[in-house]
Amino acid sequence: MTKAKSLSSHKPAGRFAPSPSGRMHLGNIYTALASWLCAKSSGGDFLLRIEDLDPVRCPRSFADQILSDLEWLGLTWDNPEIPYQSDRTAIYEKYYKLLSEKNLIYPCFCSRAQLHVADAPHASDGRVVYAGTCRRLTTEDIREKEKHRKPAARLILPDVTVQFCDGCFGPQTFNLARDWGDIIIRRSDGVFAYQLAVTIDDGLMGVTQVVRGWDLLSSAAPQIYLFRTLGFTPPDYLHLPMLITQDGARLAKRDKAADMGFLREQLAGPEPLIGYIAWLLGQIEKPEPITTQELLPLFNHKKIPGHDIVIPGNYWENLK
Ligand code: GLU
Repeated sequence: MTKAKSLSSHKPAGRFAPSPSGRMHLGNIYTALASWLCAKSSGGDFLLRIEDLDPVRCPRSFADQILSDLEWLGLTWDNPEIPYQSDRTAIYEKYYKLLSEKNLIYPCFCSRAQLHVADAPHASDGRVVYAGTCRRLTTEDIREKEKHRKPAARLILPDVTVQFCDGCFGPQTFNLARDWGDIIIRRSDGVFAYQLAVTIDDGLMGVTQVVRGWDLLSSAAPQIYLFRTLGFTPPDYLHLPMLITQDGARLAKRDKAADMGFLREQLAGPEPLIGYIAWLLGQIEKPEPITTQELLPLFNHKKIPGHDIVIPGNYWENLK
């Protein structure tokens, strides 16, 4: 099993935690660069972790490609051994047992169709909030249902308010029961869910700052609750504005011009790309070539814009 490096709790540590379901794209490079700059400018370590919980969607070949792409970009990591989530099931198992002993977990037999019924409660961002149906099952109900269907496991999220101050989007308030409802922490096929694995990993790796996309902002709330419940100190959060296309859609893997393979074919080196992203992040006046080392002393997280950033389809033509 790959062991995470244990770091002194005094030293700041940031991380980049990609899910290798394909080649990196502009959005991943942007997140990696921002995380690297935040970690390094605070005198901390930059840690890499591969979030390949779903081994079918995330083969090793994609992870290898990410390592090569990060090296090409000059975003090298400080942990000599990289944790791969697919190797860490026994670790997640241990913390899962802890939650189970605290009676915070129950089996859920609901099908996708049952979860998405028309009158299901929704959070403000459109996610279905679980109504707690299976929380009320008796031991006999469970025994009977188990004959027909393998259950997922849900974590009970109490009616409590979680507050934190995001490094980019400011003060945040979530109510766990209203905004999340009980969350799945283990799928019915036995695979541990993102919310549990990410919290355990960040806790064990000594991560003190989490920099990632705005789409994960609300996830900080159940994660902060889990950090505390499992005995870890929650990190500081900085969520980055989303990169969007001119049509207002989220920049995705299918946007060819944003693909790392394409970019590496077009460019002799990473400097124009680093400069372009540094400019998107509000760190330099013009999108001019720059190295990561030159950028480091200029970095100020307060300059990151607090709104979506539009990427023109032909943005890469000016990088050549
Ligand atoms: N693995 C997630 C992703 O690639 C990131 C999770 C996180 O940063 O917390 O989108």
